[in-house]
Amino acid sequence: MIHSIEARDIRFPTSRDSHGSDAMNPDPDYSCAYATLKMRGGDPDGNGLTFTIGRGNDLCVAAINGLGKHLIGRSLDEFEADLGLASRLLLNDSQYRWLGPEKGVVHLAAAALINAVWDALAKRAGKPLWRYVADMAPERIVSAIDFRHISDFLSQDEALDRLRQQEAGKAGRIRHLLQEGYPAYTTSAGWIGYTDAQIVQLLKAAYAEGWRHFKIKVGGDLAGDVRRCALFRETLGNDVKLSVDANQVWGVDQAVAAIKAIAPYDIYWVEEPTSPDDVLGHKEIARQVAPIQLATGEHAHNKVMFKQFLQAKAIGFCQIDSCRLAGVNEVIAVMLMADKAGIPVCPHAGGVGLCEYVQHLSMIDYVCISGTMENRVIEHAAHLHQHFRNPIEIRNGRYLAPSAPGYSVDLWPQSMAEHEFPHGKVWAEEAAVS
Ligand SMILES: [Mg+2]
Repeated sequence: MIHSIEARDIRFPTSRDSHGSDAMNPDPDYSCAYATLKMRGGDPDGNGLTFTIGRGNDLCVAAINGLGKHLIGRSLDEFEADLGLASRLLLNDSQYRWLGPEKGVVHLAAAALINAVWDALAKRAGKPLWRYVADMAPERIVSAIDFRHISDFLSQDEALDRLRQQEAGKAGRIRHLLQEGYPAYTTSAGWIGYTDAQIVQLLKAAYAEGWRHFKIKVGGDLAGDVRRCALFRETLGNDVKLSVDANQVWGVDQAVAAIKAIAPYDIYWVEEPTSPDDVLGHKEIARQVAPIQLATGEHAHNKVMFKQFLQAKAIGFCQIDSCRLAGVNEVIAVMLMADKAGIPVCPHAGGVGLCEYVQHLSMIDYVCISGTMENRVIEHAAHLHQHFRNPIEIRNGRYLAPSAPGYSVDLWPQSMAEHEFPHGKVWAEEAAVS
């Protein structure tokens, strides 16, 4: 039984070296509001996190404490018997719901808590999360989803039919996944705060490690964007994939002009070219820059936004985020919608804990939903993995399937203590210096 919720404010000072910097967010301190469901009676504690870039992490902690009360006194058996229960308890608190609905701080906090429930369930089952879901019958998976605001695009029966249809090849796909891992791309070489020399050196090192798909940040001044794309091709040639990420800085017309300027460098996708809420703006940009595809979703705050992006045919890649959406339940709903639309799911990751999380989601997509890895890649960034008890494992530009029970976001106690804001060692030292 869950007898208490612990919520902690954990921050890493990544802005000191421009790790994670982009055109919109020049100085992120990768952070997480970290929720632990404390159990009594022998069940494992559940850990979940939601990702922020520093200030505001305290607001997520407050929301986790406020919402978390709904889970106290509940047993893991209840959540096992009803996979939609945690989502309903947390998303239907009408007074908190007013602050969204289903977006912003409250939704991020709900994600941490819902993911913590899934972590505890998978740990108790002795399976990594992806396998815990993959071993479920289609009816069980569908029972996790709230179809209320999406059934006009994807009905419960359609979702069930698709999952049943994919049952046949599941065992073979699990074998393939365990042998081959899942394809990925890396963002680590192209942060906007890095110098050209740093980028060249990192690109060469990443290529030597086996990476063949890269993403660099754009959206600074246009001449600089063109120069960086040219630098990329000069460094690695034309046999590797290049995606770019503008992190929302452009208006619609500006995006079209900028994308046309970098188009000669063979751009695989352009990510977040404009406001993440502007479905029709994305559609217009996509129309004008075709055949270059747009990717978005790391700031698409709920399944209704994704439904509209997909209905409007405004995106070519669907970038789910493990804690922008309200946890595993809402992500599965979006992956099923993307599958129906024929749009590949390529999760947003990086940050802290996002790579650990989304590997499971792409593997669920492959084994249970889409049945393919074609045109699909998981984002990778090289930072902060050492703080996790079961960090991601990469080989030749692919994620190896995690094997430890749970959802892979257990932080080492010492890492938590040192990075707790504002009194952990790392932050207390900074306060003393400044
Ligand atoms: Mg991005």
